[in-house]
Amino acid sequence: MASKINWIERLSARLGLVPRTRKLPEPVPYGAELRDYPPFEKWLEVEELDSTRKLRRMAMIPTTCFNCEAGCGLLAAVDVDEMEIVRIEGNPLHPGSRGRNCAKGPATLNQVKDPERILQPMRREGPRGAGGFVPISWDAALDQIAANVRELLLTNRHDEVMYHVGRPGHEGAMERVLQAWGIDGHNTHTTVCSASARCGYQLTWGYDRPSPDHENSQLILLLSAHLEAGHYFNPHAQRIIEAKQRGARIVVLDPRLSNTAACADLWLPTRPGTEGAVLLAVLRLLIDENKIDHSFVRDWVDWRGYMAHLHPAEPPTVD
Ligand code: SF4
Repeated sequence: MASKINWIERLSARLGLVPRTRKLPEPVPYGAELRDYPPFEKWLEVEELDSTRKLRRMAMIPTTCFNCEAGCGLLAAVDVDEMEIVRIEGNPLHPGSRGRNCAKGPATLNQVKDPERILQPMRREGPRGAGGFVPISWDAALDQIAANVRELLLTNRHDEVMYHVGRPGHEGAMERVLQAWGIDGHNTHTTVCSASARCGYQLTWGYDRPSPDHENSQLILLLSAHLEAGHYFNPHAQRIIEAKQRGARIVVLDPRLSNTAACADLWLPTRPGTEGAVLLAVLRLLIDENKIDHSFVRDWVDWRGYMAHLHPAEPPTVD
C-alpha cells in the first residue's frame, strides 16, 4: 500500500529543501469549486463517524449566517437521531460565499447553544431598569404588542411607535407595513453602522448595496475597505483575490497600512477625510488626458442631467 506523504515532506519538497522523490498532488487553485462535501442529493441522508467512531445519521440543512450583512450561506449538520446541530460549516452551493466563510460563520453554533440564549419573549415586570423579566408565550407577546400599536394608531400617536430590529433580514416587507401604518420610526443595526455609506450608494447608484463585478475587473480601487477583515467583504474578498490572480491591479486609499493595503499594488496613504479630493484629482486627470471610457459614461452616468439639475441657468459642462 502506498504510504501517505506527510505535511513536513510536502512542505520541504515544495520549498526545495529535499528532492521530490514522490509525485505530489497539485494544489487546488484558489477559487476552484470546493469538492470535499457530500453531493446535494444526499444532504438529508449523510452518514459519518464521530470522534468516538459512532456512526451518526446526519442531515445538512442550508441556512444563512446573520453575523454580518454579507449573509453567507451555511450548512447546519444536524444529527437526525438526537435532533441536535453538531456543527456549522460553509454551504458550497451558496452563490455568494461558495462555501467559504469567515470564522464567525461556523462559530454560529456557539450562539445556538449559548446557555444564556433567550428562547422566548420576556415581559418586564416592575420598574424599568430593575431587571425584572418574566417569560411569556409568543401569542401573549404578539397580542400585547398589537394592542399597544393599535391604540397608538387609533389615537393618532404614530410618532410614539418605534420599530427596532437588530439585523434586518426582511427588508421591504416590514418597510411596507410601517408605511401602511403611517409610521416613520424604523431603527436597525444599519442605522448606526453603514447608513452613511448606503445613503451615498443609494444617491449615486440608486441601490444601497452594490456588488461590483470584482472578478472580471482589471483595476480594483478600495477606499478604506478591508477585504481581510470579513463583513461584506467575504464574498467580495474571494473575487478580488481571484481577479488579482488573473492579473488585476489593486489600489488602496487608506490612512493606515492595513493588511489589505499591504497586499495592494499601490497604497495611497491619504490623510483622513481627503479621499474625495484625491478622487476628484484623479477624475480631473482622466478628463484632461482623455482617458475616459466615453461609452460607459454615456450609458451609465447622467452627468448632463445632474449638472442641469444643479445649475439650471448654466450650460451643462464640467468646467
Ligand atoms: S462574512 Fe463571516 S460573519 Fe459575515 S455573513 Fe459571512 S460568515 Fe457570517
